Amino acid sequence: MAERLFPICRSITGEGVRQSLRILQEYLPLEVHEIPTGAGVFDWTVPREWNIREAWVKDPAGNKVIDFQKNNLHLLSYSVPVHRRMSLSELKGHLFTLPEQPELIPYRTSYYKENWGFCLTHQLYETLQEGAYEVFIDSSLEDGHLSYGEYYLPGETEAEVLFSTHICHPSLANDNLSGISLLTFLAQELQKKPRRYSYRFLFIPGTIGAITWLARNEAKIHHIRHGLVASLLGDPGGFTYKRSRRGNTEIDRVAEHVLKHNGPPYQVIDFIPYGYDERQFCSPGFNLPVGSLTRSPFATFPEYHTSADNLTFIRPEYLQASFEVYRKITEVLEGNFHYINLNPKCEPQLGRRGLYDAIGGDSDSKALQMALLWVLNLSDGEHSLLDIAERAGYPFEVIQRASEMLVEVGLLAEVSGG
Ligand code: ZN
Repeated sequence: MAERLFPICRSITGEGVRQSLRILQEYLPLEVHEIPTGAGVFDWTVPREWNIREAWVKDPAGNKVIDFQKNNLHLLSYSVPVHRRMSLSELKGHLFTLPEQPELIPYRTSYYKENWGFCLTHQLYETLQEGAYEVFIDSSLEDGHLSYGEYYLPGETEAEVLFSTHICHPSLANDNLSGISLLTFLAQELQKKPRRYSYRFLFIPGTIGAITWLARNEAKIHHIRHGLVASLLGDPGGFTYKRSRRGNTEIDRVAEHVLKHNGPPYQVIDFIPYGYDERQFCSPGFNLPVGSLTRSPFATFPEYHTSADNLTFIRPEYLQASFEVYRKITEVLEGNFHYINLNPKCEPQLGRRGLYDAIGGDSDSKALQMALLWVLNLSDGEHSLLDIAERAGYPFEVIQRASEMLVEVGLLAEVSGG
């Protein structure tokens, strides 16, 4: 899927986004929304739509030295149309390179300030000779629409889990395609199972897309109980969970719990008002329980926003491991109920109920036996299964399994509304 999406030149608006959403529709019954240019969304306005057909620079000898067809990172995203000849020094005012990483092409945008430009390796930049250069950018910046994709998967209740990822980057694999692919397959996985939560998946342009969605859906926002912003999930780095602004919500605790039992390396960091669209979901007027779960953190690895963030940088095994963590998080959210011990005066006799026999052959029998005792002791209606798992120091699934065994023999009952 990432391979199919990689060559497409996406931006915050335009055909590249639509083409990408059409591919996603082969996997999910995604609804595509089109919001017209000029629509007011809180303090912002939906911008003009940008489309690009061709862009190149010819050197004084007439050779195409920079060509958008070869790599769509070569063009400054949202470049306005240009076709004229100019000196090297004038051209250099519109060239972007990474002198510290001379072999890589940087990724640059100019969405909200009219400009044009090309991005190239510093190696190539240094070979450019004096003379007249021909610059051609066949782009359009016109009234149109901002497109985003939304998939709502209903569950038993209207209480909702929100997953969001940006779809506005051109040929960048980890920073974009990893999040898009992971959420697509997570949605497919969740379709197959019974669900108490409803799930909403947003495939939206960064910043303006999240602002637009929030502005148009303010009436639905009270349904959101938990959320994650997904990106940077295919690189070899350890996991990074960035807490919601509130910092102690259930999704914060669940993500941290799953990562702890998933094993190192991982880190948990506090909210900062920078990064991906958690900035909008956690703005003070919404303050939603939405964190961000990535592998390497935003803007910290050398491939970030360069041509090295390509299809060889992301690997199936890392995407798979990231997918497992996301899946586990949904399983903990789905199963995190409150129970009440129906035999709270002294310990019930477990042997008589066959519970020791039931766990005897289990490879985790010691853990499961302890889990039974923990669940019986802390199931007073106040503690959720996650509370118990954390207090006992066991993975959620062990505590959940113990609770299922106790329910089966009539020692435990779910607290309604828990
Ligand atoms: Zn980015």
